[in-house]
Amino acid sequence: MSIAATLAPLDGLLPALEELYVDLHRHPELSFAEHRTAGELARRLRESGYEVHTGIGKTGVAGVLHNGSGPVVLLRADIDALPVEEHTGLEYASEEHGVMHACGHDMHAAWLTGAAELLARAKQSWQGTLLVVFQPGEEQGSGAERMVQDGLFDLVGKPNVCLGQHVVPGPAGWVLTRPGVIMAATDALKVVLHGRGGHGSRPETTVDPAVLAASVVMRLQTVVSREISATDSAVVTVGSMHVGTAHNVIADHAELEINIRTFDDVVRRKVLAAIERIVRGEAVVAGSPEEPEITTIASFPVTRNDDGANAQVTEAFQAHFGPDHWMEAPLVTGSEDFSEFARAAGAQSVFWLVGGLEPQRVLTAITEGRFEQDIPSNHSSKFAPILHPTLRTGVETLVVGALRYLDGRA
Ligand code: ZN
Ligand code: ZN
Repeated sequence: MSIAATLAPLDGLLPALEELYVDLHRHPELSFAEHRTAGELARRLRESGYEVHTGIGKTGVAGVLHNGSGPVVLLRADIDALPVEEHTGLEYASEEHGVMHACGHDMHAAWLTGAAELLARAKQSWQGTLLVVFQPGEEQGSGAERMVQDGLFDLVGKPNVCLGQHVVPGPAGWVLTRPGVIMAATDALKVVLHGRGGHGSRPETTVDPAVLAASVVMRLQTVVSREISATDSAVVTVGSMHVGTAHNVIADHAELEINIRTFDDVVRRKVLAAIERIVRGEAVVAGSPEEPEITTIASFPVTRNDDGANAQVTEAFQAHFGPDHWMEAPLVTGSEDFSEFARAAGAQSVFWLVGGLEPQRVLTAITEGRFEQDIPSNHSSKFAPILHPTLRTGVETLVVGALRYLDGRA
């Protein structure tokens, strides 16, 4: 049975998938609070004939489909939403105040639900075991790890290959793959700088943490510009800075939150060391009465595709979608915890991107040099993938990718 035959029922399935997507979009849930979402997805997976396990990694769902001897293929969708107030104006916009599926994980859940159903219906065309994973808490960078720690691989053993995908503001109907590193590592740090508080009129009696924080922020700008080679890249952003309560009070401490993106382990270590050196050094220069405190508040690994596995999947996509609906993905400065599954399993993995916007709109924005201004990115309150053909494309990619391993060709 061919890929075409496996995908044949997709036309009939699309209305139900659209309904699921719209329902999830209306009812987004934050990381590790995806109770309703998990329930909806588990129910559909059970209806498709999977052995379903819930509550893995708190709110994660796993479905198992044994189908003879062969590789174990893990297919993953993340399911959490973000603390963002939706401003898309969509008829099916979020009904939850201040919570939105702004990263498109509702699309990922609908895609995987559709692919799971199609692969279950086409059992005579493949051999092996499917491990379907609906992962909570991706936005906090810990959902994948929690599912693994909670016994995900006890269900069927370790997977041979892990496949995952993300909807992006690229042309709908297109799929983007990339060998090697595709997404950045993220480190997020909280820094507490200590000063000595006092009256705003008598700075000579204080160590002003506002001035200390300001010089740390300025000095951090030199990490990328002066310490990283022009052929490497990194991002260092101070996204949050809190100091003081009133104009006439010099505060006793300042707090910074720093976000760091890197694509290479050596660069990552170098940037982290430089930040620590600058924070500690500036505190000494300011005469800070206490050592600064630096704590890690989030950490995502680099998302790295196995070159061999990526070549297999890319070839399958090009054959299925045609070379005119494939392009090489750019390096993405966003991060993912998807690779945690493959790392923990010692498995191969491929993560790819699927476009979700009208192709003409994307093309016009690019040719007019207005992509950054005109096209809302993931996490924007205006991020709104179009349903068609986006829903179809992401189901097809998962089916085509999975069959590459399950039909004995790879
Ligand atoms: Zn996100
Ligand atoms: Zn995401």
